[in-house]
Amino acid sequence: MSSAVPAGTPALDSAALISDLRTLSSPAFAGRDVGSDGNRLAQEYIKRRFAEIDLAPFGASYLTPFAFTRPARNGEAAKTYPSAANLIGHIRGSVNPERYMVVSAHYDHLGVRDGKVYPGADDNASGVAAMLAVAAHFKKHPPHNTIVFAAFDAEEGGSDGASYFINSAPIPIKQVAVNLNFDMVSRNDNNEIFAAGTSYTPALKQVVAMAAATSSVKVRLGHDSKPAGAAPDYDWTTQSDHVKFHERGIPFLYFGVEDHADYHKPGDSFEKINPVFYAEVTRLLISAAEILDRNLGTLE
Ligand SMILES: [Zn+2]
Repeated sequence: MSSAVPAGTPALDSAALISDLRTLSSPAFAGRDVGSDGNRLAQEYIKRRFAEIDLAPFGASYLTPFAFTRPARNGEAAKTYPSAANLIGHIRGSVNPERYMVVSAHYDHLGVRDGKVYPGADDNASGVAAMLAVAAHFKKHPPHNTIVFAAFDAEEGGSDGASYFINSAPIPIKQVAVNLNFDMVSRNDNNEIFAAGTSYTPALKQVVAMAAATSSVKVRLGHDSKPAGAAPDYDWTTQSDHVKFHERGIPFLYFGVEDHADYHKPGDSFEKINPVFYAEVTRLLISAAEILDRNLGTLE
């Protein structure tokens, strides 16, 4: 791998970052459950932000509707969702436009259960807002490869939005060199975040090391294999949308924090995020995306 790294810490519009997270986790969005009114509000919001950042759509709109059925399980009947939707935009590469990186974050969450709103601030308004910051960065610093920005629906319960994207992609999936996925990136008591996926693609270790060198956040590798004696849920390979890329043999780099006390609880609210940590992580994610873009050829 070359050491072509743009120097310095990337500039970040932290006010926009916090505003995006706050809006997506606000009461009006009611936890953004797939198929709900709050989920549709999130679609509208992300659509508007993609337009403000000036991402290019594939076709007429960022909005890519799809329907899917969740099979029956745990005593619950099968359920069909007729109006789910991903939001997809891109910035065309200036050097290798036919080679792609997909930067993804799911925008759906658990909605309202037993009368309680699950705002999903960390999971995963944080990842969506960070993805928007990465998009804004690349708009100012054009990428070498084409970068696709994907806000996936219906991650909670089975990554159906990512599945739909992979199976009906607007680009040749074989030309996707890597998936960079963000899911839960805004709070951690130990100032640390995990980067998973390097055990499958060792060349990514250097990307992570180079990005980590620019950051005050501790970046740890792991959660992408099953060491002897590890807890059954230690391996995060199947725990978010990157699994759908992994199943197609596409390298992934997933950034996320360890589960916290408010994971999948009504307490996963805006007030609990750590704005200093979150901004620093987002700078790290921008660096990682930029280093990946400059070194994408070495993953092939
Ligand atoms: Zn999530």
